[in-house]
Amino acid sequence: MEPLLENIRLAAQEQQAALVDFTQQLVRIPSLPGQEHEVMPAITHEMNNLGYDQVWTDQAGNIVGKISGGNGPVVLLNGHMDHVDPGPHEGWPYPPFSGEIVEGELWGRASVDMKGPLACMVYAASLLKRVGLTPPGDILMTVAVMEEIGGLGTHYLASQLKAQAAICGEPSRNILRRGHRGRVQLTARFKGRSAHASVPHLAANPHYGVAAFLAQLPTLTMAMDPVLGASTVAPTLYATDQISPNVTPGEVYLTLDWRNVPGEPPPEIVAKVQNLLDHCLAASRLHDIQAMVEVATHELITYTGMAETFPSIFPSFLLPEDHLLLGAARTALSEALGRDEGIDIWRFATDGGHLMAAGIPTIGFGPGDERLAHTNQERINLTQMNEAVVAYAALILALAEAVKYEM
Ligand SMILES: [Zn+2]
Repeated sequence: MEPLLENIRLAAQEQQAALVDFTQQLVRIPSLPGQEHEVMPAITHEMNNLGYDQVWTDQAGNIVGKISGGNGPVVLLNGHMDHVDPGPHEGWPYPPFSGEIVEGELWGRASVDMKGPLACMVYAASLLKRVGLTPPGDILMTVAVMEEIGGLGTHYLASQLKAQAAICGEPSRNILRRGHRGRVQLTARFKGRSAHASVPHLAANPHYGVAAFLAQLPTLTMAMDPVLGASTVAPTLYATDQISPNVTPGEVYLTLDWRNVPGEPPPEIVAKVQNLLDHCLAASRLHDIQAMVEVATHELITYTGMAETFPSIFPSFLLPEDHLLLGAARTALSEALGRDEGIDIWRFATDGGHLMAAGIPTIGFGPGDERLAHTNQERINLTQMNEAVVAYAALILALAEAVKYEM
């Protein structure tokens, strides 16, 4: 591996300036979920320039770039091209769509989550070809839409493509990751009877149902995973069916953000919450109020016009510590980076859960500090990006090698 690694390092070095230009270009094109159409051509154009053998967009608007390899295992790289809203621009030290470089860091919304890591993967996949190597099997560089609102893009991709191993390139400070808790968004609907607020005794005010429920919510026994920790639940949004301040609502809607651990399927979560709802309403003698909980769904339309009712679920996943992909990845990273930082987990959910749910074993690795994601301090370290290009190239080869006997 050593002379090859040296060639990869040199090739990556030659392309450092181009990689930074490309990342800046991506950060300067806003691409909120459902509005990725303007950044898409910039990515496909770069893939074509870098010598990808095939580049196409699918029905959902995801980009797939293919580097053709031998008959060996297919390695899939996954990133997303959308990002969260930057919020008020005044809060940013540098404008969120500037891509400004200050002291070795590239600033802006999506720099770390995840146009920086994405650019590194796009370059890394083409590097192998550049150093004259035919990868053992095809490399599929996938760039998904709508990750930030549930992962419709990767969910669709994973149903269309076959691969024996995948890398989810979300930021991880260049430390190997093996999973995370999932996210299930629930809506609890409380139904009562609306009345004029001057005669509240004629109403069945659902606010009291919510109050009874929320008082008991922290007493729920949560599932526990020895590695990922306990699952958690947090009430987030709250809405009523009224806009007049002098009318009591007929219905109110409470959003719960549930972070689940593996082995805690959404139907089980729904049943658990429903049970608590029924118990709380009965114990508080709120017999005129009914409550029902379900997994929230979103009506999503991609920029290509694909419409889907999508449940708000990011699956949790955890690759076993002794999984052969993790062992191979750890060794490859030690060689490529010259250090062994072990294996960690992510605190947030990623599209890796959708890949795993589709049966593609997935590891996590990416440059950048994930704690800066979604903040107005978002920026990515360029040294980490340069390291990551070499690391991704090494990972692609190591993963293909590790699973070749499993085909
Ligand atoms: Zn992300």
